[in-house]
Amino acid sequence: MKIKVDFDLCESNALCEGIAPDVFEVDDDDFLQLKTDETTEENLERVKQAVASCPRAAISLEDA
Ligand code: SF4
Repeated sequence: MKIKVDFDLCESNALCEGIAPDVFEVDDDDFLQLKTDETTEENLERVKQAVASCPRAAISLEDA
């Protein structure tokens, strides 16, 4: 699945990075960067947890 972030909603609080640091990273300028925009078997559960945990509902998953 494709990982999408609405950067207009994101407030760069790094909660998603705390859950899935292999996918999400808040950079030195306080902007969220995606290390990958694809889910894998390995990261899928944590990405779903990040989607559910984002207080701004900024992360979504779409069928590839
Ligand atoms: S948890 Fe949501 S608001 Fe926080 S950095 Fe990640 S996408 Fe942005």
